[in-house]
Amino acid sequence: MKIIPIHTDAITPSIAPDDIPADGPLSDRRGREVRDLRISVTDRCNFRCVYCMPRSVFDKDYPFLPRKELLSFEEISRVARVFAARGVRKFRITGGEPLLRKHVENLIEQLAAIDGVELTLTTNGVLLPRMAQRLKNAGLHRVTISLDAIDDPTFRAMNDADYPVSDVLKGIDAAAAAGLGPVKVNMVVKRGVNDAGIVDMARHFKGSGHIVRFIEFMDVGSSNGWKMDEVVPSREVVERIDQVFPLENADPNYIGEVAERWRYRDGSGEIGVISSVTQAFCSTCTRIRLSTEGKLYTCLFAQNGHDIRDLLRRGASDEEIDSSIASVWLAREDRYSEIRTENTARQRKIEMSYIGG
Ligand code: SAM
Ligand code: SF4
Ligand code: SF4
Repeated sequence: MKIIPIHTDAITPSIAPDDIPADGPLSDRRGREVRDLRISVTDRCNFRCVYCMPRSVFDKDYPFLPRKELLSFEEISRVARVFAARGVRKFRITGGEPLLRKHVENLIEQLAAIDGVELTLTTNGVLLPRMAQRLKNAGLHRVTISLDAIDDPTFRAMNDADYPVSDVLKGIDAAAAAGLGPVKVNMVVKRGVNDAGIVDMARHFKGSGHIVRFIEFMDVGSSNGWKMDEVVPSREVVERIDQVFPLENADPNYIGEVAERWRYRDGSGEIGVISSVTQAFCSTCTRIRLSTEGKLYTCLFAQNGHDIRDLLRRGASDEEIDSSIASVWLAREDRYSEIRTENTARQRKIEMSYIGG
């Protein structure tokens, strides 16, 4: 079969057509199968979280992608179907703020029609009170909602757009009421900024049925000024909570689960910790990302992507799209978090708001 060369700004070792299995799962060079597809639907956001879209960089002159550059919902669904045929079992819609993409529920409807795939979305939550039911009706299964503090001044300082905590809490309630729970609540922990509120955050959601996940601050992109000493290791997060609310380790729900689970010993629920910096989980990383304008990224810390949009717009067949995707995944060797240093952190990388968190 002919492989249409995929336009790439990444250096990809070429894969011989004979090395691409005709069907079935795809394994990369480290034996990891592609299982999760993260789809970014916009690079824009109504927040300016200091660790993701610092206002000094993402200001009024920032060159966000023009509309015509974005993949259409039909184009996204087509790529998603090809991935599903290769064994991808989870789609996550993200961004930027995915609820800012007009009629995102239409995309959800198209993706929900693909059999055997779990469909989730990550959001800052403030648009959920008016959208949660629509998303549920379109076929969304669950949402993850980001909330970096339960203390209002700290949260306003972190989102840097003056959104109060109450707006996000209303979003969490709306999601639960619409049947999109249990909600996972993501808190990025930055030392000296919001780490004093770790226990308060745990306390607020303890017994609620929602699961708070504490995420180590990462050196994604090139604009967030990451420093190792601003990372609060997950071990420390667990210790701090355990001193107040005793915890015990819980088994992962499935192999390769990113969050490590900890249960409250009194049976009132669980928390998760995501230790992307201090305990790299690259060896089980099965994620690929599709950017807003249709580039594939095989790692969150990638410097370059592989353009798939050109292929779609040149009228390629599903078979051709499949073999191009396969050649990208089969050549994959990424393990950035295992080799991270202060130096690699300074390299130019793709911004998280563009590639999708
Ligand atoms: N806007 C949506 C939101 O905030 O949930 C979705 C996109 S956001 C990029 C996805 C997730 O990435 C959020 O939970 C966010 O907190 C997390 N994130 C962004 N920058 C991060 C960083 N530097 N370190 C760790 N997590 C980060
Ligand atoms: Fe927007 Fe999410 Fe990034 Fe915050 S973390 S700036 S809400 S994309
Ligand atoms: Fe996966 Fe890259 Fe993160 Fe490692 S650093 S877990 S390869 S996304």
